[in-house]
Amino acid sequence: MPTSRTTAPTPHALKPTGKGPNLLVPGLYLVATPIGNLRDITLRALDVLAGADVILCEDTRVGGKLLAAHGIKGRLERYDEHAAERVRPKALAALAGGGILALISDAGTPLISDPGYRLVKEAVAQGSAVFPVPGPSAALAALTVAGLPTDRFLFAGFPPSRSAGRRALFAELAPIRATLVFYEGGPRLAASLADMAAVFGAREAAVARELTKLHETVIRGPLADLAADPRLIAPKGEIVVVVGPCAEPVASADEADAALAEAAARVGPARAASEVAKALGLSRRELYARALALKRD
Ligand code: SAM
Repeated sequence: MPTSRTTAPTPHALKPTGKGPNLLVPGLYLVATPIGNLRDITLRALDVLAGADVILCEDTRVGGKLLAAHGIKGRLERYDEHAAERVRPKALAALAGGGILALISDAGTPLISDPGYRLVKEAVAQGSAVFPVPGPSAALAALTVAGLPTDRFLFAGFPPSRSAGRRALFAELAPIRATLVFYEGGPRLAASLADMAAVFGAREAAVARELTKLHETVIRGPLADLAADPRLIAPKGEIVVVVGPCAEPVASADEADAALAEAAARVGPARAASEVAKALGLSRRELYARALALKRD
């Protein structure tokens, strides 16, 4: 019976036309690299780096160390915020001509608080293939160890360097019911945590430092405790701050009355108070008093 293809073919399903020991189809490969531990790199990432015509990287020394650690000889070309404007047209022309390009950053996943967005946007616009080669990212690594809800999260990158800008950003994010993930530098950490405590209030949070490295530490607790923790005053190393979501909104008095009236039409005041207390997370005793008052009225 004939079958129909419902999804786009993966690079491996296509006929390879690349060169080198690992045959790859032409396109731009976004390759995630380790955030500390050099062994945190996928076998496919190594194949792509070994098979690419050019590896665009933020810093050729950092890229060179990664390649050397895995015995790969590759042609590295700088692609950071200074070189991007000059290199991008060449890279796009190479892609249009059927080249195989890899993009890496100094650590983690390219484009995540790192260069590459314009290159990907323009590669897509000119019809070139763009492939993810997924792997480490500090944001996801921190989120997974924070011990905070992971069902809904918002990655907010680096907060502004000045307190007024930070507080404005935090105020904008405060009502969003999601775990928030920030990158932050050691020297600014204490000031940033103080602003978070002031704006977000009593939320649980975690500071994840030097993940996958020798001095990996994760310190968890309420934001006010973290802001006052002497270990978090200008710590060395790389840091992600994860902040738990805001609490469920508390029901208004009108909502509680409406729920009580609905329940009291079916059951007695004690049972109505109990049901509504459970549903809205309010005090059963206060709801019972209110149910009696509503009944009298
Ligand atoms: N693209 C990278 C990624 O996917 O993780 C992030 C690049 S951003 C320029 C660098 C920031 O990521 C650091 O300042 C720090 O906030 C965070 N970071 C990177 N490596 C880390 C690590 N090993 N532990 C904790 N945070 C890290």
